[in-house]
Formats: sequence, structure tokens, C-alpha cells
Amino acid sequence: MTHDWSPLDAELALWKRAGLTLPLWWRDDDATAPSPALDRLNDLSVETGLPVHLAVVPEPAVPELAAYLSGRENLIPVVHGWAHRNHQKPDAKKSEFGAGRPVKAALEDAQRGLARMCDLFGDDLSSMFVPPWNRISDTVSAGLPLLGYNMLSTFTPRKAQEAAPGLTRINTHLDPIDWRGTRGLADPDALIAQATTQLRDRRDGRADNHEPYGLLTHHLVHDDAIWQFTRDIVTRLIKGPGVPWTTPRQ
Ligand SMILES: [Zn+2]
Repeated sequence: MTHDWSPLDAELALWKRAGLTLPLWWRDDDATAPSPALDRLNDLSVETGLPVHLAVVPEPAVPELAAYLSGRENLIPVVHGWAHRNHQKPDAKKSEFGAGRPVKAALEDAQRGLARMCDLFGDDLSSMFVPPWNRISDTVSAGLPLLGYNMLSTFTPRKAQEAAPGLTRINTHLDPIDWRGTRGLADPDALIAQATTQLRDRRDGRADNHEPYGLLTHHLVHDDAIWQFTRDIVTRLIKGPGVPWTTPRQ
């Protein structure tokens, strides 16, 4: 299915005319093992030239995933919490690292996550923490640098460069999945409008254009429409002002 990309194309043309560049990155969450969907993600990353930061859930991750990533420079492992387990009360929004549990227990899980990921991926690992459901309490964030993390990634444009001293915030900004509805592709026109507004905010100085602009995907649940939208937007951004950004490795 084709969508009307003209609002975004017009914005991208303005970026080009102004000689601006957009640091662009891609995060994909919930990997634990190789799968046909991971093959498809890898192929799309290679095809578009945009590396993927794969947020791997440490506890259930299998060594076969490390073997799969080894030698695939375009797939960069980052730490996705510990077990993707909700610790909030039933009526609260889900979180593994929220205020619903003792900070000490949360930080122990974050430490366990980093240790397990180092065992699996060695030097390939980036010291980025991606809390499940994109939620984390400020007190837990503040403890992450002492464990060895230097980046935190959640969702929505950052309001400050650091989430805590020594912890750079590199968020994601566009998620094509309609999580609360069909769990298929969200309204494409709304997504295109959202990306256009976010880029305009950066061009006009209302948002921080030093923060890499992040696409957030979940390869295990994509249908064809989500894959196609992802390909379309990455291709457009890369052809325009997008310059691939990747985390420094350990
Ligand atoms: Zn997740």
C-alpha cells in the first residue's frame, strides 16, 4: 500500500536546501534469539544502510543470538532491562525499573543485565540501557552510571542531554505500531505528520537536533505493512538529510 509522503518529503527538501543533517538511528526491541523476523530486520538494515541497535532481553537471551550478531556489524546489541518483567501494581503502567520496587533490587537487575550481556556479546556490546516499556524512575537512572552504563534510551524527544550525570539520553521518536489498537501499523498519515512535525521542530530549534532521531521497531510482531512503512521511512530519511548514527562500542 502506498501512502501520501508529500508532507515529509517537503520538510526533507527544506533540510536539504538549508544544508542541515539529521543524525539518524534505529532501535529494535525484545530480541532473545535468531528468527526469520530477525533475518528480515537484518536484511532491511543492510539494504537501507542504517544499522540497528538491537535491544536484547538479557535473562532469556540465548548464545545463538550472540553467534548470529558476531560479524554482523550492522546489528549492535544494547541492554533491554533484565527479564522484561513487570513490577508495578496491576493498575499502574507496566515497568521493570519503575517506582514499584526497591531501587536496590532494580539496580541489581540492571547490573545483572550488563554482566550477562558482556558474557554474551563481549566487545560488541554498547553500554546503553533500554528499560522495558520505555519506563524508568529517576532514582534508578541516577544509579546506572556507577554500574557502567553511559547511555539511556526511552521514547519521546529528550528535554536534557543527560538523564543523570554521566548518562547521555538517546531516545527514540517514532514507533509505527498501534499498540493500544490493532497492534498493526498505526495510521500512516498520522505517523508521517508526526515525523514531519518532529523534524520541523528540530529545524526551527524547538527540539534538540544533536539528539539522534530514533526509529523504534519490534521485529517479532511486524506485519507486512509495518515492514513496508519502516523501509519507506528509513529510505527517505537516508536519501535526505539522515546520517546514520551508532553508539560507541565498549
Ligand atoms: Zn521491550
